Amino acid sequence: MVERGYEEAGKRMVEHLRRQGISEVVLEAMMRVKRHLFVPPNLSDQAYNDYPLPIGEGQTISAPHMVAMMCDYLDLRKGDKVLEVGAGSGYHAAVIAEIIGEEGHVYTIERIEWLVDFSMSNLKRAGYKNATVSLGDGTLGLPEHAPYDKIDVTCAAPDVPPPLLEQLKTNGEMVIPIGRYMQELYLVKKRNGVEKEKKCDVAFVPLRGRYGFR
Ligand code: SAM
Repeated sequence: MVERGYEEAGKRMVEHLRRQGISEVVLEAMMRVKRHLFVPPNLSDQAYNDYPLPIGEGQTISAPHMVAMMCDYLDLRKGDKVLEVGAGSGYHAAVIAEIIGEEGHVYTIERIEWLVDFSMSNLKRAGYKNATVSLGDGTLGLPEHAPYDKIDVTCAAPDVPPPLLEQLKTNGEMVIPIGRYMQELYLVKKRNGVEKEKKCDVAFVPLRGRYGFR
């Protein structure tokens, strides 16, 4: 597909998401991110379709509506410092990077080494300087840059990993899919205590690691 074809497909994707009630802030960001730069080349003609795509080793780039919904739940603001667990292709981090702007930063952590390289080169090729990819176990968070305004977990956990809650600012929010076979997306708000709000049923690959599934 040539550049013009991707642009048209991107517009159709955004119109489809608008009908689902996604906010204009998130739609504008998704209009700007070239999703075809984040999928394996043999799947680039499907990049703007609203379903997940395989990126290798059983891992996926999440469906556009899921990325959009999670960004909306997080209520991302310009200048936010965000931690993402599960960089995968780097696409979700790119959408976050667009919303939080150059004064913000998204740190994304990935446990599979070649996906760190894949996401890093995709983000670089797409021109994002406010997104950094690290290799590691995301269930432990990324203490060197904590605390975070928002945390975005893009794989399904048994429960909220305690280090992530510790590294979230008071008054911050986290989105996290919880469950093994039956999964639900939760919005977790750190206030004086912790409020957990169930949002919808979801299907994500499992979170592995110290506080993940074995
Ligand atoms: N956000 C990604 C994107 O935009 O392409 C999609 C993420 S994919 C659904 C989930 C990712 O979480 C996989 O790449 C997987 O390797 C990663 N993952 C699973 N457990 C992890 C852990 N403990 N730490 C970091 N990454 C993890």
